Amino acid sequence: MSDLQGQTAIVTGASRGLGYAIAERLAKSGAKVHLLARNLAGVEEAAAKIAAATGASTKAWSADVGDSESLSAAFSAIQKESPVIEILVNNAGITRDGLLMRMKDEDFDEVVRINLRSVFLGTRAVLRGMVKQKYGRIINLTSIVGVHGQAGQANYSASKAGIIGFTKSCAKEVASRSITCNAVAPGFIDSDMTKVLTEDQKTGILTSIPMGRMGDPAEVAALVAFLASKEAGYLTGQVFSIDGGMGI
Ligand code: NDP
Repeated sequence: MSDLQGQTAIVTGASRGLGYAIAERLAKSGAKVHLLARNLAGVEEAAAKIAAATGASTKAWSADVGDSESLSAAFSAIQKESPVIEILVNNAGITRDGLLMRMKDEDFDEVVRINLRSVFLGTRAVLRGMVKQKYGRIINLTSIVGVHGQAGQANYSASKAGIIGFTKSCAKEVASRSITCNAVAPGFIDSDMTKVLTEDQKTGILTSIPMGRMGDPAEVAALVAFLASKEAGYLTGQVFSIDGGMGI
């Protein structure tokens, strides 16, 4: 496991699923982890569970990552407590699936707000500190559908494709300060987000995955932890697919 001893991380959308697994993995590697989600009770429970399992210091925060005021209030409070943030994982995300012809304005806007605007807001909030300290690791959760597109997910895939463009621009802007910015593109991972799929949809998806199974959140967390480590210092602006071979 990479050694993140003495480092501090923020993970958004950390109350469950991939965000929880990422927060736990970073904590296991020795980082102090600030976990953030909308539902305070849910994220507090997650933070307490991770602290008990790993012995790491964790703290829970409630905010809506797509809302400027809410996010900046939470990030300011975090930075008051932990003035140096080495790692930011922009993980929070939602789906509002539907066919394009019937998609409502609010379903498009809300997905873009929570999935993409949040990445801009979160990154901007930590960047000044990272530039000053000449070190940082920013990891953004995109998706294979941001690369390949998906029928019924025009809003979601647009938001995830936007994250890829954002990641590359951010990487170019801050590379000279030893700050890396990468995107992780999972395929189908077993979480609440994919639990809503019908059995028929799942069967169809599994036949398109060479490994014949969904991924485990811990497998995504291991990749994120590597990208968050000092050893990953020469990797930036990249999109790392983790999809059981689906995109081959
Ligand atoms: P889940 O639905 O299981 O968890 C989503 C997390 O985000 C929760 O902690 C939720 O907490 C939080 N969240 C949602 N909206 C907001 C908001 N506005 N502000 C703050 N927190 C919010 O999702 P997954 O773990 O499956 O997905 C995590 C990321 O990985 C997402 O970006 C997703 O798009 C991406 N991804 C997932 C894949 C999969 O197969 N699971 C595949 C590809 C990408 P709360 O509701 O309390 O706010």
